[in-house]
Amino acid sequence: MQNTTAMSDILIIGAGPVGSFTARALATKGYRVTVLEKRSRLGDPVCCAGIISPDCLGVLGGKEFPVLNSFEGARVFSPAGQTLELKRSRVQAVALDRGMMDMKLAEQANLAGARYVFGYKASHIETDDSGVNVYADSRQETCYRAQLLLIAAGFNPVLTNKLGMGKPADFATGVQARVEIKPSLPLCIFTSNNFAPGFFSWLEPLGDGSALAGLLCRKNAAVGFARYIKYLLNHGFITSAEKPQFRGVSLSPLSKTYSNRMLVLGDSAGQVKPITGGGVFYGLKGARCAISQAEKAFATGDFTASSLAGYQNGWKTVLGKDIQLGQIGRKIYEKLSDHQIDKAFRAVARNGLADRLAANNDLQFDDHGRVVLKILKMPAFYQTVGMTLLPELK
Ligand SMILES: Cc1cc2nc3c(=O)[nH]c(=O)nc-3n(C[C@H](O)[C@H](O)[C@H](O)COP(=O)(O)OP(=O)(O)OC[C@H]3O[C@@H](n4cnc5c(N)ncnc54)[C@H](O)[C@@H]3O)c2cc1C
Repeated sequence: MQNTTAMSDILIIGAGPVGSFTARALATKGYRVTVLEKRSRLGDPVCCAGIISPDCLGVLGGKEFPVLNSFEGARVFSPAGQTLELKRSRVQAVALDRGMMDMKLAEQANLAGARYVFGYKASHIETDDSGVNVYADSRQETCYRAQLLLIAAGFNPVLTNKLGMGKPADFATGVQARVEIKPSLPLCIFTSNNFAPGFFSWLEPLGDGSALAGLLCRKNAAVGFARYIKYLLNHGFITSAEKPQFRGVSLSPLSKTYSNRMLVLGDSAGQVKPITGGGVFYGLKGARCAISQAEKAFATGDFTASSLAGYQNGWKTVLGKDIQLGQIGRKIYEKLSDHQIDKAFRAVARNGLADRLAANNDLQFDDHGRVVLKILKMPAFYQTVGMTLLPELK
C-alpha cells in the first residue's frame, strides 16, 4: 500500500497547456489545486508547432509569452509544386516555443498557489462517496486525493478507456523535427500525399535561421517524414534536420467526457481541430467550461456524473459545430488524390478563390467550422473546385 495520502480540492493530471491553464484559473479562485505530471521537468522541446492565433495568445496571457515569429499568411504547395500565396494585411497566427509555453503557464499556476508534482505518472484512479484517489504505478508512492479530478493528460486513449469514457474514434500521429533553413522563407504548407496522405506537412520558420518541419498522418509516419525531409533537402528548403519527435493527436472527441468526480479536457477529450490537429485553443475553450463546471460542483457539493454532465453540454455548445464541420472538411480533403489536389490548385488560381477567401475578414484562423461552411456556401467553390472535384469525390 502507499505510505501517504496528500489532499487537495482539485487534482489535475497533466501539465500541458490545458492542465496548467486550468490550474492557474482554479488556484487563482482559491481552490487547493495539485497538478500531477509524468515528465520530470517542463521547458524541453515538445512535439508541437506552437502555432496559435492572436486571440489564443490573448487568452493565454499575451506579452508574458514570447512570440518567436508571426505569420500574415502562408505559401501552400500543390503536390506538383504549384504555389498559392495566402496573405492578409494582419497577423493571422504566431509561433510560440511550446516547451516554454508549458513552463510559463506552470510557473504562473504555481505562483497562484497550484502545487506541481513532477515525475508522477497517474496510473490508477478510484472514486468513492467522498473523493477520488490517484495512484502511480508503484503503490509505494504518495496517493493523491481530491474532491474532483480533471484529466488533461493529452492524447491518452488508454487512460480514458480504463475509466469507462472510451477513446477517440479517430486519431493520427504527429511528427516534427527542428531543421536549419535558407533565410526568408515564409510559413510553407505542403499538400503532397507522398509525405502525409490525407493530411499536410509544414515548414515553420522560427525567425532565427531554424524552423520546425512536421506532418500528421495515420500510418507509417516515420516513412512519410523521412520522404518529406529528403524532399526539403533536395529542393533546397533546408540544410539539415535533427532527430524527429512523435506524438498522437486526437481527431474526434470522446463520446463521454465526464464521470463521477471526473472531467476530461483538452486533447484527452478530443477537443481538437479535425482538419489540422491543432488543439491548444480548443483545449483552452474546453478548459473554461471545465472551470465553470468545477465551480458549480463545489458550490452545490454535488460531484456525481449526472451533475457534471453539464460540462459536456457546455463545451459542445462552444466547439461542437466547429468540430463537426471540421470533420466534414477533413473527409472531403482525405479523399483527394495528388492529381485532384493539383487540379484544385489550378482551378483556384484561375478563379481567384484564395483571394476571395483571404479578403473575407469573417474567416479567422481558429474558426475552421465557419471556414468550411463559408467555402461550401460560396458559389465560387462550385464554379471552380466543387465542379472540378465533386464527380470524383463519390
Ligand atoms: C506535431 C504536432 C504539431 C502540433 N502543432 C500544433 C499547433 O501548431 N497549434 C496547436 O494549437 N496545436 C498543435 N498541436 C496539438 C497540440 O500540441 C495539442 O492540442 C496540445 O498540446 C493539447 O494540450 P493538452 O494540455 O490537452 O495536452 P498535452 O500538451 O499533450 O499535455 C498533456 C500532459 O499530460 C502529461 N501526462 C500524460 N499522461 C500522464 C499521466 N498518466 N500522468 C501524469 N501526467 C501525464 C504529459 O506528459 C503532458 O505534459 C500539435 C500536435 C502535434 C503532435
